[in-house]
Amino acid sequence: MAALYVTAVRTLRTRSPIFLAPRRFQSALASMKEILGGELEGIRQAGTWKTERVITSPQAANITVQGTEGNILNFCANNYLGLSSNPEVIAAGKTALDTHGAGLSSVRFICGTQDIHRELEQKIAKFHGREDAILYISCFDANAGIFEVLLGPDDAVISDELNHASIIDGIRLCKAQRFRYKHKDMQDLESILQQTQGCRMRLVVTDGVFSMDGNVTPLREICDLADKYNSMTFIDECHATGFLGATGRGTEEFLGVDGRCTIINSTLGKALGGAAGGYTAGPKELVTLLRQRSRPYLFSNTLPPPVVACASKVFDLLMQGEADLPRKVAENTARFREKMVAAGFTIAGDNHPICPVMLGDARLASEMSDALLKRGIYVIGFSYPVVPKGKARIRVQISAVHSFEDIDRTVDAFIDVGKQFGVVS
Ligand code: PLP
Repeated sequence: MAALYVTAVRTLRTRSPIFLAPRRFQSALASMKEILGGELEGIRQAGTWKTERVITSPQAANITVQGTEGNILNFCANNYLGLSSNPEVIAAGKTALDTHGAGLSSVRFICGTQDIHRELEQKIAKFHGREDAILYISCFDANAGIFEVLLGPDDAVISDELNHASIIDGIRLCKAQRFRYKHKDMQDLESILQQTQGCRMRLVVTDGVFSMDGNVTPLREICDLADKYNSMTFIDECHATGFLGATGRGTEEFLGVDGRCTIINSTLGKALGGAAGGYTAGPKELVTLLRQRSRPYLFSNTLPPPVVACASKVFDLLMQGEADLPRKVAENTARFREKMVAAGFTIAGDNHPICPVMLGDARLASEMSDALLKRGIYVIGFSYPVVPKGKARIRVQISAVHSFEDIDRTVDAFIDVGKQFGVVS
């Protein structure tokens, strides 16, 4: 009888919902909400919550922002050349909408390649002086899709420890032996190059410009070491293409080492019109293999025609010698940096339009950027985990469309607010 009772209870426990453990009563959705709610609360508690301010105008030097009055001076876009709302660029996008449609509803290799996609790839290759180029929907995808195609288990990838997240993710996907060298540390890089001499191929990977600090990679030294140890080089030029160097060719031109990098990846989503898109420019065989094997290229939709046309117009402007734009960004950058340093601020970086105003304390960076917004200046404070603890800053980004008056007004606002918070006297 007792045995019968035990069997009956066991059956009930496995079959009847009323005997299930209490946690199983919660639906999967409710559990997920509870778990994620806890994570969200953790982010709030840690003080690392990111709020998005809502812009109600096109991207430009002067913008309107929800919840604020009048025009705001914008110093935090990657709109380095000010071409995001340039009339010629917009007109090119509108024309392509009429002539080539809104989108292709296809990946490139099925029926997603138009004449304008190939034309843009050829322009990019010509601009960088490379054999060929391939477009992606973003540079994140270009970085995610290259390493596993190029490198296998017999190869090594050697990456600066502060490279962009998309490079880190791309490297995670590849089967090559992975090495990280200390940030910009050429001794460390050389010792890894020495250790890996038995590998079939080696690729040194670096950002051209590191976006949190506005500092430029030591490309000449990297290329010299790569030559010495017979390695290839890869550079991410998202914060350089279009404006760094006299004609905007990027870090190679800025440092006088034109044509020495094996592979260039960059974005169309910053200086080059600012819409979206990325690319790889490099040797023909690599680009051809990427078209066959690169997963973000093969399994994701093609770049929309208006976006292609906008970027294509930007390359025309740059190649027709609108060299004034890179000069204008450089001039504006020098003015801002000089005036801020003279006022007593510490500005990190290497004469790059990314000008991090170093403050140290996270709350100070956040409160000062709020105070600047009240004065009509839109800048953003960055703190841990985006930058190391104790190295909070306000990142100011300079554009060719800022006037000297805009720059001076911003410096004056920084001085006023800096005095109010005791940062400068
Ligand atoms: N690489 C670097 C250095 C970047 O700063 C960014 C953008 O933030 C990317 C890659 C990704 O570019 P995209 O916005 O085209 O995906």
